[in-house]
Amino acid sequence: MPENKHRKCTFAMFFLQSLNGATQIRLIFFFILWCLLSNSVFAADKMLDVSQLNQPTVSLSEYFSILEDSDKTLTLANIQTSEISERFQLNETLGNYLNFHYTSSAYWLRLHLKNSSDKPSVWMLEIPYPPLANIAFYQPSGQGYQTIHSGYSVPFAQRPYRNRFFVLPISIPAYANQLVYLRIETPNAMIIPAKLWQQNAFYEHERTDYIIQALYFGMVIAMVLYNLLIFTILRDVNYLLYVIFSCLSALSMIFYSGLSSELLPWSDSTLGTKIGASTTAAWLFVIFLLFMRRMLSTSIIVPKLDYLLKLFIGINIALPFFLVLLFEQVIKYRSIIVLISSLLILVVSLICALKRQRSAYFFMAAFSFLFLAITLSALSTLSTLQLDISDTEIAIQFGSALEMLLLAFALADRYKTIRQEKEHAQQLLVETLKSSEQLLEMRVAERTAELQIANCKLEALSMTDGLTGIANRRCFDEVLKSEWFRAERQNQPLALGMLDVDWFKKYNDYYGHQMGDECLQNVAKVLTTHVCRASDLVARYGGEEFVFIIPAADDARVLHVAQKICETFKKLALAHEASMFGYVTVSIGVATIIPDKGLSPETLIKNADMALYRAKEQGRNTVICAGIDIGKRHD
Ligand code: GH3
Ligand code: MG
Ligand code: MG
Repeated sequence: MPENKHRKCTFAMFFLQSLNGATQIRLIFFFILWCLLSNSVFAADKMLDVSQLNQPTVSLSEYFSILEDSDKTLTLANIQTSEISERFQLNETLGNYLNFHYTSSAYWLRLHLKNSSDKPSVWMLEIPYPPLANIAFYQPSGQGYQTIHSGYSVPFAQRPYRNRFFVLPISIPAYANQLVYLRIETPNAMIIPAKLWQQNAFYEHERTDYIIQALYFGMVIAMVLYNLLIFTILRDVNYLLYVIFSCLSALSMIFYSGLSSELLPWSDSTLGTKIGASTTAAWLFVIFLLFMRRMLSTSIIVPKLDYLLKLFIGINIALPFFLVLLFEQVIKYRSIIVLISSLLILVVSLICALKRQRSAYFFMAAFSFLFLAITLSALSTLSTLQLDISDTEIAIQFGSALEMLLLAFALADRYKTIRQEKEHAQQLLVETLKSSEQLLEMRVAERTAELQIANCKLEALSMTDGLTGIANRRCFDEVLKSEWFRAERQNQPLALGMLDVDWFKKYNDYYGHQMGDECLQNVAKVLTTHVCRASDLVARYGGEEFVFIIPAADDARVLHVAQKICETFKKLALAHEASMFGYVTVSIGVATIIPDKGLSPETLIKNADMALYRAKEQGRNTVICAGIDIGKRHD
């Protein structure tokens, strides 16, 4: 600026020397007046000649002269006084927006516009940053200034132009030189990305912008309805969380993108607009963290970080309440909470992904882009980082849409995994059931076989005499019955012998019971050596009485066998001192019969028994045949 002044003065000196005295004095007077005027009003400003602009839009940042009103007391009249107007400083920061961060001051911006053409020109001044509470435009009109209010504290219908951002149509007459003032104050981060648009270019930009918004919200509606439907069918809470998450994403995007005043019925509520974006964003984090904890099973995979997640769920639940009560104090920390929450989400997803948690891959992919956008946006409010605000907004919106899509994929993938696991478990169950069934069948077969053997043994035992090992009375009864019927069918004789040890009581008395038992065992052995055909049967009838059945044998044959038995005892000569014979003898009664309908096995037994009785009567050691009525003594 001083160099510029020096050049102006040198040129003026040459020019003055070439003029006469009176004219020189007049010119010097006008020059001093011009210098005073230009220094006081325009010297600090960078003038924007709109007629020279050939691009559709221009960032106004570099053209603004700025004045901080820390007490918020200055009026338009105040700042127009030469004393205060000199305090305006031309913006010297680079970038396409002004960033005053979180400030309690109001800021005055002065814009020097010029139209050097011969036609009036209409331009659109746009500030595409929704969290600005109060914007006052001061535009020259007639003799004075017209004040137009905007910002989110002004109801949508009362704004100078109905757009999600703050837009002011400015008409600049031909050959006009205008000073436009803006006064801005907001409890949020004060970022002013002001742009000047050619009217038609702005309309086109506006249309494209609203199409992008419609696409985003259209996608959200589709995702919400689709997943709500899935939730009603599957009753899986994760789908419900996803639906709430998507709704909150859309709601926070409505606030974030400035559409709240336009779309929500309670948009004119300053409180709603003021805390809406922060509240929905905080609750969005709550739902997202809940969703993530369930989807990634963080309590099992990263139990320590899970506590942190719970803590941030609590913080994000509480944040809106603090915002309502202590907005000015808390709002500054909101960006920090957003940053840390986002970082935590990313770290947890990364660790879960490293631990090969399948859903974590989707979370990583879903959140990383949005995280980048959120971080850049949060950093731009906190630091001096210069970013294109509208680009960050688009990035956040794109990130949000991408996140929604990828999380839907995560849900679908989880469903697929669960189904596969279920199928696998079912398969395993079927296989286990099959093998246990086979095992059971095997065991049953084994047990049946064992039982059969046991049964056979039992049956054999029930048919066997314990002392002698030959058939018992029961077995004898059954065999006699069946042989009776067989003989009846075949019309053949059936022979029965009944044997009684002679003077056995005495034997017992003399030799003792144990020797008596041994004697009975010897009797059984003798019997089985003589009655030994497959169809024959030797049995113990009871006490020291034995019986034998010889099928298809006549009197002669059975007598022969009986006599052979007696002879064997004679040969054996088992000592029996109490007997008149001196050795163990037996008496045998035999009988034969051809079974008939009118007869029964008892007849045969009775006949044999009577024959035995007679053998005893005749002096023992004798064989008597019932039918023949003869006997033979073997002494
Ligand atoms: P008889 O010549 O008239 O047949 O005279 P006996 O002594 O043989 O006949 P009795 O019916 O008076 O006696 C039968 C005896 O057989 C009585 C009983 O002590 C004995 N006895 C029966 N069963 C058994 C047994 O299982 N073991 C032993 N040691 N003795 C038995
Ligand atoms: Mg007897
Ligand atoms: Mg006897």
